[in-house]
Amino acid sequence: MDDEVHQGFETLAIHAGQEPDPATGAVVPPIYQVSTYKQDGIGGLRGGYEYSRSANPTRTALEVCLAALEGGARGLAFASGLAAEDTLLRTVCAPGDHAVIPGDAYGGTYRLFAKVLERWGLAYDPVPLDDVAAVRAAVRPETKIIWVETPTNPLLGVADIAALAGVAHEAGALLVVDNTFASPYLQRPLTLGADVVVHSTTKYLGGHSDVVGGALVTADAELGERLAFHQNAMGAVAGPFDAWLTLRGIKTLAVRMDRHCANAAAVVDMLTAHPAVEQVLYPGLPDHPGHEVAAKQMRAFGGMVSFRMGSEEAAVRVCERTKLFTLGESLGGVESLIEHPARMTHASAAGSPLEVPADLVRLSVGIEDVADLLDDLRRALD
Ligand SMILES: *Cc1c(COP(=O)(O)O)cnc(C)c1O
Repeated sequence: MDDEVHQGFETLAIHAGQEPDPATGAVVPPIYQVSTYKQDGIGGLRGGYEYSRSANPTRTALEVCLAALEGGARGLAFASGLAAEDTLLRTVCAPGDHAVIPGDAYGGTYRLFAKVLERWGLAYDPVPLDDVAAVRAAVRPETKIIWVETPTNPLLGVADIAALAGVAHEAGALLVVDNTFASPYLQRPLTLGADVVVHSTTKYLGGHSDVVGGALVTADAELGERLAFHQNAMGAVAGPFDAWLTLRGIKTLAVRMDRHCANAAAVVDMLTAHPAVEQVLYPGLPDHPGHEVAAKQMRAFGGMVSFRMGSEEAAVRVCERTKLFTLGESLGGVESLIEHPARMTHASAAGSPLEVPADLVRLSVGIEDVADLLDDLRRALD
């Protein structure tokens, strides 16, 4: 659809890549639960489909939609966020290359660099991304990638995407942004100069804690083509039902994000005023060191909130006392979650440069009635 470029975000989320099915008029893309396709004579493919690792119509609908939402040339859907990351890194890097990664990268991303790709010969340096000079100093001739997360997990640090894109491009490297925490509704890294966006679609894009998936979106069609070759050659694709669930989630992304942000702001107000809480980490707070950058590059500040309780025991007690905030890993679903990063999501970073504070609690603020959320947290804290 040529007019897609002129359409608003909410319209694209519901319609991009999702024309009514030409065969039946079905209004949403069917789940093409199929591995192979009849050819009209050898090589006579209908719509380019021959085998579902290479392409599947339900996955294509998701890939086109993701590219439209991020303002990119090409979208690709994978079996998980980490499968997307691995495919990207082994496409654009070779043994002997180097990457700059966030000083507080998502634990699974750090583990992929530290335990898998380092053995393959990819060197990396964790650097605090809010320090642009430190990032520039860490870049070497072999640096192929600057990997950005903003806001970061679980410390909610903020990196200046446009400034880091400048550093990457001066060095002939790619700027990759893991946009999982913000979602394309709140932040569009490609419009700020990034080359590739990474998503765990498991989180806000899927939005209902019922599917694991990942995605890459590129600004450049040629890089998109190389990644599509590797997606097929390496094989970690999203299955048709997972692609369908993710598309279903994306249709309500904008309204969900508005409510996540509003509920998170109310939770932040309550936590900031509560005497048991030592510090609240949220980019929407004016005293957050990344507040101005976040205000410049994000539509709103998101649904993730972290706070410090002063001691590990106090943090663990809060996590065990909430009822509506469910104790669990992951984030970005409609239901509120609470967790203790040092012992849960980020336990694999213990003893590494990426170890997180033991008194930290992380919330994924859901879209329940905000009064119920505040009551639940107050009861756990008092
Ligand atoms: C969850 C997550 C990932 C990994 O995605 P999976 O779908 O779990 O493989 C990557 N980055 C961030 C920021 C995440 O939260």
